[in-house]
Amino acid sequence: MNSHRLTSYRYQEANPCVPLTKMSLGGIVSQQNPSVRSKKTVDTGYAIPPFRLLEEEEIPRIKRFLPDNRYDYVYAATTSGKRARTVEQSDSEDDTPRPEKRPKISSEARKSPKKYKRVKVPSRFKRIQGRFALLQPLVTSIPLEIVYEIFCHLDPRALLTLARTSKDFRKILMSKSSENIWRTARENFEGGLPPRPSDLNEPQFAHLIFDLYCHVCNQPWRCDNILWRFRLRCCRNCEKSFPLYQWSNLYAILYPFTSFDILPKEKVKGITGKNREDIVYNGQVALKFKAQFIAFQSEEERLAWVTRKRTECKEIEQHARQSEAWHQAKLNQRSIELCDLRDQRLQAILTRLGTIGWRSEAEFIIFGLSALKQPHEFLNLQSVKMPKKLTEHGWISIQSELVNWLSEHSIARLEQVRLEIRQKQFHRLKREYLDILAQHDLRNPYPGVGDILTDQTLQVMVWDTDMEGGLTAAFLRSTLLEQLPRILRDWRSSSIQELVQIVRKARRHASHSDLDLAVTIFGCASCRALMVYPQVFYHQCCFHNCAEDDFIHDRMQTIDKLYHRNGNGPWSARTIFFHSRSSRFAEKLVIGAGLDPATATASDLTAARPVIEHTNLSAEASPARIFVNWQAALSYHELTPDDSSFVINRFGEDTSKIRAHETLNMYANVICCVHCHKALKPHELLLHLQSIHNMEATPVVITATEFYGLFRGHWYWNPREELNIIGMEFLCR
Ligand SMILES: [Zn+2]
Ligand SMILES: [Zn+2]
Ligand SMILES: [Zn+2]
Repeated sequence: MNSHRLTSYRYQEANPCVPLTKMSLGGIVSQQNPSVRSKKTVDTGYAIPPFRLLEEEEIPRIKRFLPDNRYDYVYAATTSGKRARTVEQSDSEDDTPRPEKRPKISSEARKSPKKYKRVKVPSRFKRIQGRFALLQPLVTSIPLEIVYEIFCHLDPRALLTLARTSKDFRKILMSKSSENIWRTARENFEGGLPPRPSDLNEPQFAHLIFDLYCHVCNQPWRCDNILWRFRLRCCRNCEKSFPLYQWSNLYAILYPFTSFDILPKEKVKGITGKNREDIVYNGQVALKFKAQFIAFQSEEERLAWVTRKRTECKEIEQHARQSEAWHQAKLNQRSIELCDLRDQRLQAILTRLGTIGWRSEAEFIIFGLSALKQPHEFLNLQSVKMPKKLTEHGWISIQSELVNWLSEHSIARLEQVRLEIRQKQFHRLKREYLDILAQHDLRNPYPGVGDILTDQTLQVMVWDTDMEGGLTAAFLRSTLLEQLPRILRDWRSSSIQELVQIVRKARRHASHSDLDLAVTIFGCASCRALMVYPQVFYHQCCFHNCAEDDFIHDRMQTIDKLYHRNGNGPWSARTIFFHSRSSRFAEKLVIGAGLDPATATASDLTAARPVIEHTNLSAEASPARIFVNWQAALSYHELTPDDSSFVINRFGEDTSKIRAHETLNMYANVICCVHCHKALKPHELLLHLQSIHNMEATPVVITATEFYGLFRGHWYWNPREELNIIGMEFLCR
């Protein structure tokens, strides 16, 4: 038998037994009570529309196992094309019209779903009209008893399939006399089945258990959800279309029938809330119950019927529970089997990959060692996860896809390894440069890390070397020291010129020497920091720039996507401006300190150590008077630009008394040692000089007066810190 053909036939058959009318499950309700939920129209799988009896020709050829709680009758076609009733009706209580004629199904409908087109009958069998030739002798030339005997050895799935292959088989298998065949098949089924409920006949029961598609929408994919009380296989989507079991609605629809407790009900998730369970009923069955109820002549008959139905309902419930347990066990067993199958397939695939040299790449991913792909990405590849034994043919069909996938990963992984080496090298280069900077006098401007990382020569060296382990720190340091003079030569003059241009906007004839003056104050437009000349070269905001060269910019982004935001961009005075107001105030401070604004540098101003009182602060915030150094005076002035709040050097004989109150409590490394350029806190200076430079100093503790006087030649303000940080204030009562 051609199994492919039978498969395709199965889905073809799925449609004929299906309903000709499109209707809504909830629609029954909605037609009478529009307020009730009814949206989705689905193919219900029922042959009985809600408000009319079916026309004869509307009833499909095999009225297949209707899920409406009755032992159905089955029709088979006669050879003349007319239908004859071959099986007597069972204990069915209703009298649905019998079909006469197979409804015409348009060629379009036959084709659907497109995926399952009918397979052409091979030419050598075409002589035998419309039959599957190989099966034909079974029914034409073998005695019927033997055929029955053979059928008894098949399982219910095979019987279902057979019944759909030809009229002759259908005729045999759908006759009442074949019941034994079905029963034997059911009882012989490996693993056992739940008992057949009395309201389903054998083929109906086999259909419920073995036709693994949704019996409502008939979509050809597997459906593992059975609504046992409705006698339906039903996908999660379709089950939401059943109407909610609510008394008020039921009453409106079914009155005078009111014994709603005898209606079969199911719990369905996801109708009124994602994880909520609602009780639904089957609209078709409910209407049928109503019709039957009304049809009785007397109250006694009705009562007897309801009592009988109530008993049936209990039986259905009991059977449903039993069946659910069986089904769940079956599903569990199946999932274990699938797992085993997948595992076997994976092992087979790995073995095959091993023979062509790709196993280690696959295992690299499976063991979670890859930074680029998660194990499940490989395991979930369609060709890997399908629960099917790997055959030679199967391997050939998936081999190239798998190898392509793995080789793409391999290329990306090597690229990743290369990138990591580069990142490591850039990081080492940065660390070495910062270390070199720490040993230099930064009062002469030095380029920032970004200028080094984006330097053409250094970048080519770091980028193009991807040997394992990367370039060593020692090698990078010696290369840096070798290249630094060249970089400094190019960088310094252009950067200084950039600053001179900024000053020239305010002072037309400014030159390089103007930068050093105490009256040249720069501001940062981005963070409002105040700076003097060398500080501008180390200000964080000045490194938030992209490399000018696009090529270098792309490489830098590969190393660090946000290098420009992280302060690893090249230096630029983009945010720096000449702060005229602060410069004017600085001039007052210089004059107040008795210096000449035209020549006094920032260092001169520090050495002059003017005593500055901030009168506004003392008046409001503190009972004591507040004094500030010149850096703090500029910072306060920037916040509230009022020159009259500052009194400069007008304290006469109190001056030395006030100066004695000055402290050196600063928590940032605001100074540098002149001898080794190490950044320090002011109060650490003495110990540093004694321990590192073996200096014999007389004082035990260093005071501000000694700091500015005696030790003046041993430190300078750290250019990495802005004026705001260096600013210092002290109280004097
Ligand atoms: Zn469905
Ligand atoms: Zn700034
Ligand atoms: Zn030192």
